[in-house]
Amino acid sequence: MPTFTHRSCYVNFAEHLLNRWNVNVLYPDAPYQWSLEEWERFLRMIAAFGFTCFEYWLVPTLFDTAALEGGAVPTAFAARMREVNDLAHGLGLQTKVLCPPNTIGPAWYSACPNLPEDRALIHRLWRHWMRALAGTDIVGIFPGDPGGCNRHGCTHETYIELALELCEITLQENPGARLELGTWGTPFSGWGGDARTVPGWDGSFAMLADPTYATPETPMHIWNGDPARAEAAMGYLLRRLPEFPTDMAVAINLGFSPDGDATLGGDARAYARAIAAVRPITTWDYSLGEGELICYPHWRLPRLAARRREERSAAPYSGGMSYTMSPRLNLLTLYAAGALFQDADADPDALSRTFCIAVFGDPALGELFEAFEIVPGWGHYPRRRWAKTELRRVYTEMVDRLEAADPAACTLPLCVDPEAYRQDLLWFARQFHALAAPAPDRQTIRAAYRARALSIYDVVPPSVDERTRAAADGFAGLLGDEIV
Ligand SMILES: [Zn+2]
Repeated sequence: MPTFTHRSCYVNFAEHLLNRWNVNVLYPDAPYQWSLEEWERFLRMIAAFGFTCFEYWLVPTLFDTAALEGGAVPTAFAARMREVNDLAHGLGLQTKVLCPPNTIGPAWYSACPNLPEDRALIHRLWRHWMRALAGTDIVGIFPGDPGGCNRHGCTHETYIELALELCEITLQENPGARLELGTWGTPFSGWGGDARTVPGWDGSFAMLADPTYATPETPMHIWNGDPARAEAAMGYLLRRLPEFPTDMAVAINLGFSPDGDATLGGDARAYARAIAAVRPITTWDYSLGEGELICYPHWRLPRLAARRREERSAAPYSGGMSYTMSPRLNLLTLYAAGALFQDADADPDALSRTFCIAVFGDPALGELFEAFEIVPGWGHYPRRRWAKTELRRVYTEMVDRLEAADPAACTLPLCVDPEAYRQDLLWFARQFHALAAPAPDRQTIRAAYRARALSIYDVVPPSVDERTRAAADGFAGLLGDEIV
C-alpha cells in the first residue's frame, strides 16, 4: 500500500516562471512549446516515477475576457490541454487544473466578488473554462497569490462563499470532476486582512504590491495573517464545509507559511485533522522540492522525505503535489518526489544513488549533486553547509564524472534525451565551479545564465512579477561568502 494515494506533479508554466526547461503554452511566437510527442514523453516519465496526476495552473493571462471572445491563445491552450488530458488518461494518469477565481489577465487584476460586474465576470470565466476543460479529473479552487480581495468588505468568508458558487458551476459543466479547495496562505492568501490595506485600491497587482503601502503590521502585500486570523478563517471554513461536495478534498499544509511551517499564520496541524474528519485532505506544499526564479538542479531530497513522514504522522493526508518550474531539468527531484509519495520511509540518499546509476551508471553522482543545493531562495533549507574551497573540489569531481558518464544505457524513461540532461548538468557544474573560484567573473556568468536559461524573455513580454528580472543577478551573485 503506498503511503499516499494521490500523487500529483504540478508544472507551473506561468508568465513569470518561463525558462529553457519549462513548457511555453502562452506565447505562440516564442520557443519551448512542446509537441504532443514531447507532452507524452513527459507524462510517461511522471507515471513511471509514481505520480498519479498531472497538475497545471490556469494562469491569469488565460483567465481573461480574451477567452470568452475566442482569442487565439486561450483557444489553442484549451485544445492542447484537452489533448494532454486524453494522453494522460491513456497512460493511467489523472489531470488537475488549478484555478484562482478572481485573478484576471496578465496584469493580475483582483476582481472583487462584492462588485456585481466583477462577480458576474468571474462566473462567466469560470463557466467558460470548466466547459473548455471538461473531462479534467480534478479542479482546484485556489484562493490567490496572486489574487484575493479586501475591497468592498471582502474577507476570507467571501472566498468560501465564492468557492461554493464555483463548485456548482464546475459540476454543471464537468459533472465527473472532483473538486479540491485550497487554503493556501496565512490562510486564504490575499483575502480580507491577509492583504494589506491600500487606500483607494483599484484591484491592480501593481498597486497592491507597491511598497509605499507597507506598514509594520502588513509588511507584505499578502501573507499578513496571524494565528488569530487563521483561527477565524479555518473556523469559518469548518462551519461551511458540509455544504461543499461530499467528495471534495481540501488542500491544507502542516503550517500556514509559504514553506508549510508555523512561522507565519501559525500551526495548521490541528486544522488539518479537524478538516480530515469531514473531507479528504491533501497538501499543497509548494516550495518543498524546488524554489522559484533561479533555475538549477535542486537537491532537496532529505527535506522532501522528512515532510512526507511528518505529514503521515500529523494527519490522514491522502496525498499532495510536487511542484516544478523546470520539468526538463529537475528530473532527480521528480523521481525522488514520486518515490517518497509512494514510500515515505525511502532513504533520500539511496534514491539519489539509484537514480544516478539508472541514468549515468555512476552512483557517486547521487551524493555529489547535493552540492547544487546552495542557492538561497524559497524553500532552501540545506542539510549541510559547505566551505567554498570544498565546493570547488566537489564541482571538479562532478564535472569529471559527468564528462565520463555515458547515459546511452539510461534505464529510466526521461522526458528529455539523457545526453541533453547530462549536458545541462555539466553546464551547471561548470558554472558553479566558476562561481566557487576566488574571484569569479560574475558578468560573464550572468550573461551565460541569462542566455541559457532566460532567453525566452527576449521575445515575450516581461511579467508583472518583477522578481523574474532578478534571477540572472541572483545566479551570478552566488557563493559570495566563504561558507555557504
Ligand atoms: Zn472585494
